[in-house]
Amino acid sequence: MVDVIGGPSLPQERKLVTSIPGPKSQEIIARKNAAVAAGVGAALPISVVAGGDGVLVDVDGNSLIDLGSGIAVTGVGNSAPRVVEAVQKQVAQFTHTCFTVTPYEGYIAVAEKLNELTPGDFEKRSALFNSGAEAVENAIKIARHYTKKNGVVVFDHAYHGRTNLTMGMTAKNIPYKDGFGPFAPEVYRVPTSYPFRDGLTGAEAAEVALTQIEKQVGASNLAAIIIEPIQGEGGFIAPAEGFLPALQEWATANGVVFILDEVQSGFARTGQMFAAEHEGVTPDLVTTAKGIAGGLPLSAVTGRAEIMDSAHAGGLGGTYTGSPIACAAALATIETYQADNLLARAARIQEIIEEVFGALQQSDDRIGDIRGRGAMMAIELVESGSKKPNATLTSAVAKAAADQGVLVLTCGTYGNVIRFLPALTISEELLRDGLQVVVDAIAAN
Ligand SMILES: *Cc1c(COP(=O)(O)O)cnc(C)c1O
Repeated sequence: MVDVIGGPSLPQERKLVTSIPGPKSQEIIARKNAAVAAGVGAALPISVVAGGDGVLVDVDGNSLIDLGSGIAVTGVGNSAPRVVEAVQKQVAQFTHTCFTVTPYEGYIAVAEKLNELTPGDFEKRSALFNSGAEAVENAIKIARHYTKKNGVVVFDHAYHGRTNLTMGMTAKNIPYKDGFGPFAPEVYRVPTSYPFRDGLTGAEAAEVALTQIEKQVGASNLAAIIIEPIQGEGGFIAPAEGFLPALQEWATANGVVFILDEVQSGFARTGQMFAAEHEGVTPDLVTTAKGIAGGLPLSAVTGRAEIMDSAHAGGLGGTYTGSPIACAAALATIETYQADNLLARAARIQEIIEEVFGALQQSDDRIGDIRGRGAMMAIELVESGSKKPNATLTSAVAKAAADQGVLVLTCGTYGNVIRFLPALTISEELLRDGLQVVVDAIAAN
């Protein structure tokens, strides 16, 4: 099985030949448990041998519908043809120089693309890194250097990564923070806008957050406000209209750098290249990663030239940052989003998900909320007749779906959200089959 070729040539079908996980997967996962640190978990303990568009094939020969894309990474599909070609070519040319020792054009071309595509009609600069957390860390470094201030405001339900600073910025204790402290100082958390639970308008929620910032932190101590335009791990929470513009307006008026963390929501995922475009905001800095390079590790900070250029030479970088292989993959990935019209595909995926779960919500009041944008959609599950989070149902549905060959991810501070993050290249037929499995799993639980 190990020489299976992935990409779009893989049959786009749900096909189970064993139970999940099958015997060969179980053997390999037993080796994982003996060799890999226990803290490195597995949402679905199978061993994958190939992936392409809507499917993952495991070592037992099962073909599963993939509604996660890693975690919102392979938006162009796994082993997308342009990405495969660009990576193979780059690997044969050179694999590494360290950009800050001897530069190469691929990195510069990615920076040019980011400067062009990210929101904001002003002169921009970019810097490339390896992971989303590393991009967030660097955005904070840059904002502090530029403003000569220290404070950072983050929000309830935020997720920004697993390094020390970004753990401290992340809201949820288990599993991200528990026992891993102490965390970095000068990080302040304020309420977000969570329309399903707070019932506030965007303006009202912003007033709560901004009052707390003014009373507890003070603009004169504050370097940056950072927020995900749609919160990811925290539960796919889309803020009420007007919340983000009010934050931005306050930040601009008070000499505070406004940063959007688009690590999960960026790169065509929501039906626009960046989620900010739906929300009527223009960040001073934006962090990107996940969907940027078709599965290769790459991340970036992009933003206003005067802020980005404030850090001295040598202050930003890293051995592997902006790897030539990841940059080649990113250029091919961005071309694929544009040439294959994948933004429109994301919008269509939203329509289908809203249709399927909207119909179910009529008859099952445990579907508390259906929300998100594009191919970043979620359902929040509650107990019948209330808004009490239903984490038991959520994990039962994910397990039942996996048993039927559908990979879905859960999320949310209360563990009661099922999120849908298919590749934008998934076929409508396969998507509908996968969603029907989830609908049936909800009905059966
Ligand atoms: C995943 C994620 C991160 C962290 O990215 P890593 O590549 O896992 O370090 C940061 N911010 C958001 C919004 C994310 O979804």
